[in-house]
Order: sequence, then C-alpha cells, then structure tokens
Amino acid sequence: MIHHTQVGIIGAGPAGLLLAQLLHQQGIRSVVLENRSRERVESRQRAGLLEQNTVDLLRQAKAADRLDREGLVHDGVILSYNGQRHRVDLAQLTGGSRVTIYAQTEVVKDLIRLRMDAGESILFEAEATTIEGLDTNASMIQYVHNGENHTLICDFVAGCDGFHGISRQTIPASLTTVYDKVYPYCWLGILAKVPPSTHELIYAYHAHGFALHSMRSPEISRLYVQCSVTDTLDDWPDERIWAELQIRLGTAGWTLQEGPFWRKPSRPCVAS
Ligand SMILES: Cc1cc2nc3c(=O)[nH]c(=O)nc-3n(C[C@H](O)[C@H](O)[C@H](O)COP(=O)(O)OP(=O)(O)OC[C@H]3O[C@@H](n4cnc5c(N)ncnc54)[C@H](O)[C@@H]3O)c2cc1C
Repeated sequence: MIHHTQVGIIGAGPAGLLLAQLLHQQGIRSVVLENRSRERVESRQRAGLLEQNTVDLLRQAKAADRLDREGLVHDGVILSYNGQRHRVDLAQLTGGSRVTIYAQTEVVKDLIRLRMDAGESILFEAEATTIEGLDTNASMIQYVHNGENHTLICDFVAGCDGFHGISRQTIPASLTTVYDKVYPYCWLGILAKVPPSTHELIYAYHAHGFALHSMRSPEISRLYVQCSVTDTLDDWPDERIWAELQIRLGTAGWTLQEGPFWRKPSRPCVAS
C-alpha cells in the first residue's frame, strides 16, 4: 500500500516524537513509524535528568504540563571526590538555569498522548526497512506493519531511529564522519524502590570507580555504579551494589537509604 505525507519520521523516541509535535504546531503533516510496541516504548528506562534548554523546548512545544506539575526541580548538584562533597549551585552560577528530574519514559508518554489526542499519525510495530530517493523530491520509506509491506512517500525523511536504526546506515559512508570514544568500562544503572537519600544528585569519583545517586520521583531512586566491561549481572548481586554505593558515595554526614531493586538491566551498558 502507498501512503503520502510531508515528513516521514522513523522512530518514536524523544527526538522523533518532539520533532513530530514541533511540525504539528507549524501545520506540517508527518507520519511517525516505530518498530516497537507502545507499551515497550513507554516503559524503556533511560535518561531522567532534563537540562534547562530541554525543559524550555518542551514548554514551547506545549508538552510540559505534567513535567511542570511533577518534575523535581534542582538548583544544584553535588560532586563527591573520594568522599569529600562539594555543592555546585547551578542556578546561581548560570543566572537561573536549573535541572529537572523527569524520566525520559514520562516525556515519551506525554508526547505520544499529545500526538494521539491531535489525531496525528503514529504507527507502532511498524518497522522501516529501507529508505530510498533521498536525493529526489519524493523520498520513500519502505516499512512493514501488521505483516504487510507499505511505502511512505514523503518530501523529507527524519531518521530519528537511534544508533542502531537504519537511517544511520543509509547515509553514504563518504558523507559521514564518525567521532567515537568508547571508554574501557561499563555502567550498571538500577532503579530502587526507596526514597532518594539526598535532595540533589551526587556524582562521585572514587578509587573503586564512579557512582551516581539520582532519582526518578520522591519514591524511586536511580543509582549507577561503574563496573568492568567483562562483568555480568552475576558479578553484581544486590548486596555488592549497595556495599559499593556506600563506599563510593561516601556516607560521612548522611545516610544512604537501601531498599529493594525494582529494575535491573539485563547487562551492564558500555560507556561511550
Ligand atoms: C541506559 C541509558 C541511560 C541513559 N541516561 C541518560 C541520561 O541520564 N541523560 C541523558 O541526557 N541521556 C541519557 N541516555 C541517552 C538518551 O536516552 C538518548 O540520548 C535518547 O534516548 C535518544 O533519543 P532518540 O529519540 O534520538 O533515540 P531513541 O530513544 O533510541 O529512539 C529511537 C527509536 O527508533 C526506533 N527504531 C529503531 N529502528 C527502527 C526502525 N527500523 N523502524 C522504526 N523504528 C525504529 C526505536 O525502537 C526507538 O524507539 C541514556 C541512554 C541509555 C541507554
């Protein structure tokens, strides 16, 4: 089946969804193609901290109502160096810029709801397979939806399908310059069902490796520990994670509250 639109957007992550909303505000038609289910896209745990420019852009896009109600606004962050803590007052140093804790999954949910409420097209479980005619006025995205092949003809293609998507591979190698830095360690990022132990984030340097104490809400803590690239989850039982966090975050003068882990990743993430 052949369909037409002005902008074909591949990927319903924050980039594709926000672009779709900004285009909608300008009266430009678009179709969003997403290969995962809505449920999967809305539950993927990723980022949780929005910088001021992102908050400002979401407000401009009229996508910040819930963010403004529920986001946790922080004026500063804490840097910990071998147990010594130093607070950086971001708001004071920048003339009012702050960071807001609001999970990427929530941003994605808000943008999907806006799109659906506006009756604009978004297809889940629709996998883009090829992009053709990028140097013509009628580019084509081939995609598979409900087991059927479809063609989307569009004036522009926006490849918002992330690092592993097809858009990146479609750009000729001769036109691409890749700047890459892969660090020789991994991150283990965990969500714990325990109220955050401090109001602001703690980024900790320690001889054992980096650790981060962050949060997703007043009930959920987000914690990271740096680990080796060869580590698997079996190397990191819950007790070891808490013990390392206690050491790396340095608990002099405050208490790191422990609680049950709610979500652990299937493996540590490569740092890049
Ligand atoms: C564990 C983790 C923690 C992170 N923490 C932070 C953080 O604290 N702060 C921060 O700023 N950033 C963080 N990031 C990075 C942040 O999540 C990404 O920068 C962000 O997700 C990029 O958004 P995006 O829309 O470009 O891509 P993505 O979110 O990757 O979205 C791409 C979408 O395209 C879809 N797709 C892929 N291929 C196809 C296809 N062929 N057809 C149709 N759809 C397709 C995918 O399913 C996906 O939904 C983190 C990332 C990870 C993995």
